[in-house]
Amino acid sequence: MFVGHYGIALAAKRLSPRTSLGWTFLAVQFLDVLWVPAILLGIEHARMIPGYLPASNIKFTDFPWTHSLVMAIAWSWLVFRFSKSAVLGGCVFSHWVLDWVVHARDLPLYRGGPEVGLGLWHYRAGTLAVESAILIAGLWVYLRATQAKTTMGRYGMIVFAGLLIAIDVANLYGESSASGNVGAGVIFAEVAYCTFAGIAYWLDRMREPLPEEGPVRLNI
Ligand SMILES: [Zn+2]
Repeated sequence: MFVGHYGIALAAKRLSPRTSLGWTFLAVQFLDVLWVPAILLGIEHARMIPGYLPASNIKFTDFPWTHSLVMAIAWSWLVFRFSKSAVLGGCVFSHWVLDWVVHARDLPLYRGGPEVGLGLWHYRAGTLAVESAILIAGLWVYLRATQAKTTMGRYGMIVFAGLLIAIDVANLYGESSASGNVGAGVIFAEVAYCTFAGIAYWLDRMREPLPEEGPVRLNI
């Protein structure tokens, strides 16, 4: 899963109004942020195979240190211990749950253990629909939990969410000719994760948490 993770990051604002979206955006991708150096250092392995699955060009050969259930729990606990934020720890763990929905049966429960995955990536339109729905639902929760301080704050996050969905469409339906080494692709992904977290941090500063639960409305 890609942009769907950010729906969780946006919705987290409701539970932890003072936590910047910059941090929640990083937390929901934390396992992938670790996965990139793990791939580059040869600790974990993957191959780029165009058309491998309708919604994924990557064959995940092994990634027990970043994406096994046991290690996902361990990383979540570690982030919780360091940040003292159960919400950030929960955001980290949410990555595994959403990955479990989309991945083919390649997510190990523990190193060398059974591999699981519901396989939504077998369906391109289904993947786009589910990812977009989670992102839009998260955006809805975020907009209801905060109010704009500036005009940019009013519309910025909506435009950004639209951009993320457009990137997802390009990812899912664009032509990919790359094959073999996954290195360049994962570096690009790492830059994207950091850039998106930076944009989320910047846009989040233009909104503020509502003092208390308001009436049912969108505070755009
Ligand atoms: Zn992942």
